[in-house]
Amino acid sequence: MKQKRCIYCGRSDATERDHVPPKCLFPKPLPTNLITVPACSKCNRELSEDEKYFRSIVSQLAETENHPASKKILNDRIVKRLKREPKLALRILSTVKPVKIIREGKHVATVTAYDVDNQSYDRVMVKIIKGLVYHETGLIVPSSFSIKWNVLREPLQLLQNLRNRATNIPKRVIGDGVFAYEGYVRRDDVRSLWVMQFYEGVTYSGVVYAGRHFA
Ligand SMILES: [Zn+2]
Repeated sequence: MKQKRCIYCGRSDATERDHVPPKCLFPKPLPTNLITVPACSKCNRELSEDEKYFRSIVSQLAETENHPASKKILNDRIVKRLKREPKLALRILSTVKPVKIIREGKHVATVTAYDVDNQSYDRVMVKIIKGLVYHETGLIVPSSFSIKWNVLREPLQLLQNLRNRATNIPKRVIGDGVFAYEGYVRRDDVRSLWVMQFYEGVTYSGVVYAGRHFA
């Protein structure tokens, strides 16, 4: 292991390998091409609750819940865990509410929706992006840099400017479509753009930029 420092906090010694994205997103048997990065034991562990929460949301969105890996995750892990830990079930269920879908003035359906704990979700997304930056560039994102992510519905027109000046890391897929990503990076620079897809259904863009100004 060449990297001596934890890539997340940049301070402590790296004594462990952390999975990018979190290992809990993958059903068993685990794929053989999982990405790992050097981390201290604190950073490796401190988001484990957030990561399980993230999994229970990202694998069960309308766009992802029919993926074979999502179904396996639900059967093998989430149902068991919610039975064992009613607190987590309550945390999710307490925000469930009926949402009416109205089309052309007519009520066409009522579906259930729940609020996402955005802070938990954000912490996990930021950690995944830091992990990808390190894995692809060998660089640690300094704490003075910002990381933002968003749901990606359109092609990346807005970010064309950065794309033109960066090198494309072609799409890489990990574990039967559980996670796929591509990136736009520049040499010796953590400023970068990432496109990340979970369970072949939901796609996020992520950017790493210095201070408040991007690119
Ligand atoms: Zn650390």
